[in-house]
Amino acid sequence: MKLSIIGTGYVGLTTGTCFSEVGHEVVCVDNNREKVEALLRGEIPIYEPELEELVTKNVNAGRLRFTTSIREGVENSDIIFIAVPTPPQPDGSVDLSFIEKVSHEIALCLTPELGYRIIVDKSTVPVCTGSKVMQTIKRYAPAGVDFDIVSNPEFLREGCAVQDLLNPDRIVIGADSQRAMDMMKRVYQMFHAPIVETDLSSAELIKHAANSFLALKISYINAVSAICERSGGDVELVARGIGMDKRISPHFLAAGLGYGGSCFPKDVKAFIHISDDLGVPFTLLKEVERINQTQLDRFMNRLREKLWILRDKRIAVWGLAFKENTDDVRESVAVNLCRRLCEEKAIVSAFDPKANETAARVLGDAPVTICDDMYECARGAEVLIIATEWKEFANADLVKLKELMHLPIIFDGRNLLHPANAVHAGFEYHSIGRASVY
Ligand code: NAD
Repeated sequence: MKLSIIGTGYVGLTTGTCFSEVGHEVVCVDNNREKVEALLRGEIPIYEPELEELVTKNVNAGRLRFTTSIREGVENSDIIFIAVPTPPQPDGSVDLSFIEKVSHEIALCLTPELGYRIIVDKSTVPVCTGSKVMQTIKRYAPAGVDFDIVSNPEFLREGCAVQDLLNPDRIVIGADSQRAMDMMKRVYQMFHAPIVETDLSSAELIKHAANSFLALKISYINAVSAICERSGGDVELVARGIGMDKRISPHFLAAGLGYGGSCFPKDVKAFIHISDDLGVPFTLLKEVERINQTQLDRFMNRLREKLWILRDKRIAVWGLAFKENTDDVRESVAVNLCRRLCEEKAIVSAFDPKANETAARVLGDAPVTICDDMYECARGAEVLIIATEWKEFANADLVKLKELMHLPIIFDGRNLLHPANAVHAGFEYHSIGRASVY
């Protein structure tokens, strides 16, 4: 089928590439000229495992191309996916101006002669956005254009986006027209995943409800980690014990510094705002947010308890990305941690296997020394903090690390190391929801 994706970011580029991988003919559109020019030169603007090979393969096969022209996308595809940002506004509501702008631009490219088109919202949007897109297109498109609106939320995880797209748990398609539903099912017939067919509004709600539930699971185990720290329990054992219950499942029960990234913080905020607007306040989610915020505060308190005053203390931070296997630092707790340490005038060095450049951009004036090597980052440090769960850190040579550091103290914000291994290598080891060991 002929498809176009408007917005060639983490979602648009990986989705477009995977659609082309299963045989569709795809045009990826972005209004960021530099990004499109880089893609045309074969440079991939983000780090995502397997993505580069797939882009190259499908561009060479003539199934994937890039442009800055929405018109080119609309004219050359039956189905137009929208994958532009939906960032939070200061009051927590969703900024839908990108969606509105793209809807308007699509409307101006539609003509009755082009024939039937489906406009699919893949961005995460508040319930009822689909009908607003429909109204916008009707208002600005010439009379007689034939189109339907579909909601097809995306559930990929950065860091394994290609695999998530090619092997999804489920595909959600929300449409109020059978014709649109049937065509959308053809788009996904190569994916061998169950399709959840819904109306437009339910599909929009599924995305916010799913992300808020996952954030809730993280805050739940983090609240349990605080109880473990006070009572002498071990949150890893508690998580294992509850996660083996099939009704709960072991996923998303990793205690740590809290959730971050471009989705969970903004989607939880959005769902709170949506429910407030509808007059059915979702107060449970306000607590999910509060627990997430206090998790870093509690970690900072424990750091101060150990080091006393942080000013002039040399602190190494391993990890800057919001999670492993990505260069994305949007709402990264690791970056927030670096900022907090700088505010207290600690001397901070940091290393991330893939996010050094993206982090340097957002850290701006914060005086963090970004290092090219994880061991150099830790040289002379009085404490090492593990802030992102990269495999490299879990497999670190602890004997070498101890020789390089000024004091052998590790604060593991992701429970990545085995406490016994850290102690065996001579470290004093602090982690989340587990007793400190020496
Ligand atoms: P992103 O910022 O990485 O990419 C968005 C792209 O849209 C950018 O390249 C930008 O230049 C482009 N763009 C903006 N305005 C445009 C316009 N008028 N015309 C053409 N292109 C335009 O964002 P993302 O992470 O890919 O997220 C996109 C949407 O998908 C958001 O709603 C997000 O919540 C949702 N989502 C994200 C993820 C994720 O893990 N990143 C997962 C599921 C859903």
